[in-house]
This record gives sequence, structure tokens and C-alpha cells, in this order.
Amino acid sequence: MKLNPSDTFNKQLPADSNVSNTPRQVFDAAFSFVAPRIPSDPKLIHVADEVAQLIGISEAESKSNDFLNLVSGRAIYPDTKPYAMAYAGHQFGNWAGQLGDGRAINLFEVLHQNKRWTLQLKGAGETPYSRTADGLAVLRSSIREHLCSEAMYYLGVPTTRSLSLVTSGDKVLRDILYNGNAAYEDGAVVCRVAPSFIRFGNFQLFTARKDIKNLKALADYTIQYFYPEITVSGKEKYLQFYQEVVNRTVEMVLHWQRVGFVHGVMNTDNMSILGLTIDYGPYGWLEDYDPDWTPNTTDAEGRRYRFRNQPDIALWNLVQFGNALYPLIEDIVPMEEVLNSYSQQFDSQFPIIQQQKLGLEAEYDADFQDELTALLTASESDMTIFYRNLANVLKSDAPEHAFSKIEFSFYELDKIIDDLKTRWFNWFALYLEKIKAENISDSERKQAMNQVNPKYVLRNYMAQLAIEAAEKEDFTLIDELYTLLKNPYDEQPQYEKWFAKRPDWARDKVGCSMLSCSS
Ligand code: AMP
Ligand code: MG
Repeated sequence: MKLNPSDTFNKQLPADSNVSNTPRQVFDAAFSFVAPRIPSDPKLIHVADEVAQLIGISEAESKSNDFLNLVSGRAIYPDTKPYAMAYAGHQFGNWAGQLGDGRAINLFEVLHQNKRWTLQLKGAGETPYSRTADGLAVLRSSIREHLCSEAMYYLGVPTTRSLSLVTSGDKVLRDILYNGNAAYEDGAVVCRVAPSFIRFGNFQLFTARKDIKNLKALADYTIQYFYPEITVSGKEKYLQFYQEVVNRTVEMVLHWQRVGFVHGVMNTDNMSILGLTIDYGPYGWLEDYDPDWTPNTTDAEGRRYRFRNQPDIALWNLVQFGNALYPLIEDIVPMEEVLNSYSQQFDSQFPIIQQQKLGLEAEYDADFQDELTALLTASESDMTIFYRNLANVLKSDAPEHAFSKIEFSFYELDKIIDDLKTRWFNWFALYLEKIKAENISDSERKQAMNQVNPKYVLRNYMAQLAIEAAEKEDFTLIDELYTLLKNPYDEQPQYEKWFAKRPDWARDKVGCSMLSCSS
């Protein structure tokens, strides 16, 4: 297996001069060199074939011992120097100081077909940033990260990728519900792949420490490699950079809202500088349509990161990122303009996406949309199934008939009675008027809707089934879900069973509707 390593981050930016792998505060450095822990009995569970191709690994090579050594941390690729990044962040709205890659180790960067990719192991042991934790990851959370990274990519959502999933052969102690019931679980390592894993928090760390020299070095580095279209200099350079990060972040959040993804932990250390969805932890998908839902039990009280808050939280995080960049710009007025453009972009794009989901090209009708949101919520409608089946409505349908086509999305059909049912019929009467006024045919509308409304998403219960099978060493469901989710917008009759509402057993089950940060 021959790759084309091409490190820049750990060559251009300052390294921690202390090379001991002990938890500590790290100053004047963007990262610390650290070797992955040697796993006791690594086994390859799954490889994302397309990610392997991206970095120049053939199918045969992905089955080799060299590959397993690489993605499990058992061997360091020749002439590379793995490292953990230093970053800080706001967690749940509070400044948390230095955090850093506590259980992520960047292996090296690869250049393949003119694209730069960083390979990063998650769960490969302690780093100077591990604080009091062990640097490890368990199989269940690693399956969730591996499958969801790829599922999001195929949904068209900007995301970090996942090359591989291995079990380490080591046991890891976790208290899933933080209630004193710790138990040993199988350890696992995921190899994540992205152009870069730099976060808002990398910038925040330097600014908090008034280390402007390194703040500038990091910004210059990021722009050089990841925003090469920015060619101006001076303050304007960092202002344009800020604008680009705002643009990419808006785009990412719009996609989340489109597909019903709830990240769960939108701390500033979990915000990618490239606008990629990063750090798949207690995430989830809206099933019964509840805009106030978050899967994260750690956030159960304030529900800061609930579905409908995500756009505002991304903006809040961008304010923090702006504060971090301020020393390089020192001009509040244009920075505020950049920030204001977030809401302008969101407010102009969001209605378009809502219209696309409904198959409408006409102007956005806020009352009509608000009534739909209210109905979906009151009726406990499955978001994915509702939008997908809505595409089957015909211009010639009567409102009652159109309604019957989305009935399957209700979790409790017998609750849709009286006033609620009348409101649905009224909504459909209006919807039918709207689609009749459009210039496209039923089949064209259906085709367009099916390109923005996925048929298959990685519902938590699906991941949970794959996890429970994997814990019994049956990995077939991981393969099946991976294959299914490669084509989330296509009809796949052989997988129709996955076009289903969350089953009753999953409603209040740990790992399905409730997830903690324990991973
Ligand atoms: P998260 O909430 O998963 O984004 O993690 C927040 C911080 O805690 C990051 O700095 C992580 O690297 C660190 N962290 C989370 N889990 C572990 C772990 N098991 N061992 C070491 N550090 C961890
Ligand atoms: Mg994180």
C-alpha cells in the first residue's frame, strides 16, 4: 500500500515543545506530537470503499495487513509524525478553556488527485488533551460515527468522511447514562477523513491566550490551503475569510434543517472551519416532527441544541469565532456586516428549501408553511415519510385523497380526528390549489421533490440494531445500512423495510431517542 503523504499542518505551524504524553495545558503551539496507542487485537469491521479511493487505496489494499495497521494505529506510516491538535471552545454556551484532540490523533495528510486529505484516528488513545478521560471510543458510538458520516455525504450534506471502522480488542469502561452503572464495552477506532479538522476552537484558543502571533499563523495557514481563492492581504484577508466561514456554515445548517438532522452538541469546538458536519456524537433525526427535540440527554434540561435552535446556535458560534478573529481585523463595523449576512442568507435560502420540499416554485407562503409545521408537530408525523409521500399527491386528487397518501407518516393515526383532521384537509385544499397553479406535471414535481426529500436516513433505531448485532459479532447490518444509505434518494425496493417509522420499542430506548455524550 503506497500513499502520498504531504504534511503541512504539523510542518508549518508550531509544535508543542514538550513531547511527553501527559494531560496538561499546552502553550505556544497548534498541536502536540503523539503516537497512537497499540491496539491489542485489531479487527477490520468495515471500509467505506469510496473514501479509500479518494485517498488512493485500492480495494485489494484495503484488505491488507498494512491497511489494518494504519487505520487501527498499530503502525505509523513511514516518515509521518502523528499529532493531536490544540483547541478550546464554548461548551453549552460556557467558555471551557483548552480542550483539544483528547481522543483524536491526526496521522498525516495525503495528496491524491490534487486533493488534500487528513487522516485522523478517533479513539486511538490518550493525548496531552485527554484531561481526565481515556482517549478511547466504544464500538456503538464508532458505528454511529462511521455510518452517519457516510450517510450524510450521500445526502449531500457537507461532512467529514469515515474511511474505516475497526475494533481494537481492548475493553473500555463507560457509564452510558452517567448514573453510576459503568460497564466494559468493546473499544473501536474510526479513521476519519477530511481536508482538515480545524475547528472554530483552534482560533479561540490563541485569542483567549492573547497569542496573536499564532492566531495569525493559523489563519494564514487555513486560508493558504483551504481558502486559496482569498488573495487580498491585510485586514481584508481575514474579513473575507470570516465571510467564507459564515457562508459555508449557513449552507451546512440549511442542509441539516432540510434533512431533519440534529447534531446534538454544537459546541464551538465541534464547528468545522470548513463548514463540515463534524463530531458525530449524540446526534439524531427528527422522526415524529418535534422542532424542540434533541437526542442529547446531557442537554435535556435547556435543550440548547434542539432542532429548531440549530440555525441560531450556528450564528452564536460564528459570533464567538468573530471574537476570535477580531485581533486580526480590529474593525467591528465590517465584521458585523459579515455576521448580518448570516441571517440574510439563511432567511433568503430557508424559504426556498421549504418550497422545494413541497415541490413548489411559487413564492413562499409563510402562513401556509407555519400551519404545516404546526400540523406536523401536533400530528406526530414522521418527517422523512411525510415529505417523501407528499410527492405522490396528484393535481387531480381531492383533499381527502391527498391526505390519505401521507397518513402512513402519523405515529398514531387514531389521534388525527376532529379539528386536527379538518385542518389537514384545509391545508391540503390549499396545497392542491398551489400545485395546480404550477407549470410542472405531477411526475416532474415528484422527481424534483425526491431529490431534496430523502427516502432513507440513518434513524437512531437503525444504527441501534446494527450496534446490537455488532456487539454479538454480526456485522452484516453495518454493511446493509452502508449500502442502503449510499443512495438515500433512490427507491430501493429490496430495502423497503427501512422506509418505516421508528418502531414502538425504540421510542424511549437508550441509544434510540436518548443518547448521552458518553461514547
Ligand atoms: P465532545 O463533546 O465529544 O466534542 O468532546 C469534548 C472534548 O472532550 C474534546 O476535547 C474531546 O477530545 C474530549 N473527549 C471526549 N471524549 C474523550 C475521551 N474518551 N477521552 C479523551 N478526551 C475525550
Ligand atoms: Mg468534539
